[in-house]
Amino acid sequence: MSAEEFDVVVAGGGPGGSTVATLVAMQGHRVLLLEKEVFPRYQIGESLLPATVHGVCRILGVADELANAGFPIKRGGTFRWGARPEPWTFHFGISAKMTGSTSHAYQVERAKFDQILLTNAKSKGVVVREGCSVDDVVEDGERVTGLRYTDPDGNEREVSARFVIDASGNKSRLYSKVGGTRNYSEFFRSLALFGYFEGGKRLPAPVSGNILSVAFDSGWFWYIPLSDTLTSVGAVVRREDADKIQGDREKALMDLIGECPLISEYLSNATRVTTGQYGELRVRKDYSYQQTTFWRPGMVLVGDAACFVDPVFSSGVHLATYSALLAARSINSVLAGDLDEKTVLTEYEARYRREYGVFYEFLMSFYQMNVNEESYFWQAKKVTKNENTDIESFVELIGGVSSGETALTAADRIAERSAEFAAAVDQMASGDGDNMVPMFKSHVVKQAMQEAGQVQMKAILGEDAEPEMPLFPGGLVASPDGMKWLPYHPA
Ligand code: FAD
Repeated sequence: MSAEEFDVVVAGGGPGGSTVATLVAMQGHRVLLLEKEVFPRYQIGESLLPATVHGVCRILGVADELANAGFPIKRGGTFRWGARPEPWTFHFGISAKMTGSTSHAYQVERAKFDQILLTNAKSKGVVVREGCSVDDVVEDGERVTGLRYTDPDGNEREVSARFVIDASGNKSRLYSKVGGTRNYSEFFRSLALFGYFEGGKRLPAPVSGNILSVAFDSGWFWYIPLSDTLTSVGAVVRREDADKIQGDREKALMDLIGECPLISEYLSNATRVTTGQYGELRVRKDYSYQQTTFWRPGMVLVGDAACFVDPVFSSGVHLATYSALLAARSINSVLAGDLDEKTVLTEYEARYRREYGVFYEFLMSFYQMNVNEESYFWQAKKVTKNENTDIESFVELIGGVSSGETALTAADRIAERSAEFAAAVDQMASGDGDNMVPMFKSHVVKQAMQEAGQVQMKAILGEDAEPEMPLFPGGLVASPDGMKWLPYHPA
């Protein structure tokens, strides 16, 4: 069997997989993405963070499409949580990193959101094959050199690539091929039972699109508005209370709702959806875990394949898309011949673990119910070592921007300048008559011009663009367009 060859092959077309595939293809590399299902397909994880929609999605080129897709606008979160009996609300806009047009996220139907990202991947040059289940990796000594998969006709096929990305999510076993072990948290081992309702109440404007999270004796509820009338409702119960979601799921969910006065009130005039993709009541383990290693030569884990943290802060899609951005940077740097694999993937793993770690560590204190929200805000400041106020630290942590990454907070300006510069270079390269500059026909020269433009762009971004500093001593920094790593040279 002779294998097809690509620069990169990605297993899984969720947010992690489609993001990493797109960002590598955007640098001109050949990328194949294999997805087991045929889209659109159901997935849980509907509440997004600003870092995803205004950061990664802007770089992917889908931010405007998302804005026009009719998804409810999430300006923050409303919690009935901790010692205070009344609900309390936070707004993303309180942080200087998420002001104005970037002070919100969306609540999304994942079938639609994931389809937008996958279609965008195709339009940016990724070869996408749906209905293709990845079975195993191909190895050559220490190195992973490709994947084996089964195509929609049941044929076994093989593909070789310089890099294999496992973005196949929570349920797949492919991750184990990276080596090491998957360590489960002692603290966050809950189970979720969830379904969909029509006609549930809404929080008052302007926070009607907020996620509402309500703690109760057996755990907590999410209440996510997906349209004016459709609501995603899930009960997350502790492992000790797992028997409460055994047996008849309909009865179990209604009993849990009955235990929680606020959710009962919001659903008092609602009816459960019983047909279509939202008709089923589903159960998912949401145990937190992390793999002891996120990569080996030739193979990288992205998103849930690497780690997962309790969903109370809606961090899953952020961690998937942010890790995809970090992985794409690493692979783009190696494929361009700029840096070696070990250096960039060490940076990848350290940054992804750092982001995962702040959510994980903060969650430990968030589950203390005998304190009020001010105590949570103070904890967020401690965990992120943020210099802003307690409440800003909290909002930045759960907005996904606590790393201070320019790509997550100023992506609109970066994308604008990148597009302007690329268009100018293209025009010079392909121009005719008086505009013809033969030198620009060379790919190498064109690339060099683009690199130079990134330096210019940094100047254009101006004083308000924080100088990018390594996150770790001796570490790398992102290139100004966010697509690669650069060595750090202090001025
Ligand atoms: P996925 O979205 O799981 O995508 C993986 C893809 O790989 C799938 O399309 C799958 O079909 C495909 N695949 C699997 N196996 C193979 C194979 N062998 N070959 C080829 N393809 C394969 N996150 C949020 O951001 N907000 C929330 O509100 C939220 N709520 C949650 C509630 C619960 C109860 C749980 C459990 C999770 C929640 N999450 C939430 C987390 C979120 O669901 C995930 O973190 C996110 O979907 C991860 O994205 P991913 O791309 O890594 O994986």
